[in-house]
Amino acid sequence: MKVHFLGVGEACDPERFNTSLLILSESKEHYILLDCGFTTPHRYFADCSDPDQLDALWISHFHGDHFFGIPLLLLRFWEMGRVKPLMLAGPCGLQEKVENALDLAYPSFLGKLQYALQYREMEDGGSLQAVGFLWQAAATEHSQPCLALKLSAEGKSVFYSGDGQSTQASASLTKGSTLVVHEAYRVVGQTANHGSLAECLVLAHQVGCEKLAIVHVAHFEREREKLEIQRLVRESGLPGVFLPEPGEILSL
Ligand SMILES: [Zn+2]
Repeated sequence: MKVHFLGVGEACDPERFNTSLLILSESKEHYILLDCGFTTPHRYFADCSDPDQLDALWISHFHGDHFFGIPLLLLRFWEMGRVKPLMLAGPCGLQEKVENALDLAYPSFLGKLQYALQYREMEDGGSLQAVGFLWQAAATEHSQPCLALKLSAEGKSVFYSGDGQSTQASASLTKGSTLVVHEAYRVVGQTANHGSLAECLVLAHQVGCEKLAIVHVAHFEREREKLEIQRLVRESGLPGVFLPEPGEILSL
């Protein structure tokens, strides 16, 4: 399995694309995109010339930096001549939200799509088998309903928090994950309904994360606090905690 960090930024970061991961199952050539915010499609298509490459899209929740890229993603696939159905998975209400976003961005465009959209709406604690992976979802504590996701295949697994503080359910989903990708909007202190570096380090200790990638750090903290992040990570005694760079590709 490969994990490509297309973006690691939060909504207002002027230098980093919105947090989005491209997951590749190597043996079966399956591609899954995790979250598609304002800036994700341009980054995704910078590397992708095959309109049928993507098998599935996961949306963790309905904030713009996690799903407002969908109209452009679907438009570009249409322009490129995609024919393969696209699976869209996410929290309840996904189909209505996607159709509303499409209608606002490009009215009547939905009727022109020459490829099918297949929706799979999930709930806290839900699971499904699709695209060669086991998908397991658990709610986080965010300002609107958000699902963390664990994808497992071929003996490897990746956990992606979406936004929010971890909950008992999402923390238990991180157990045994080969890679945990967790948002930490704040480095020092705490913002309501968001993760923090301190909380992530506690989580890593509790569940024994092999690798923990910290993403979605507030743009006003990431550079200013980079040394502080490195110090806190060093002091935690957790060698597997890191800040992925935009574009970094990790093989699991
Ligand atoms: Zn959010």
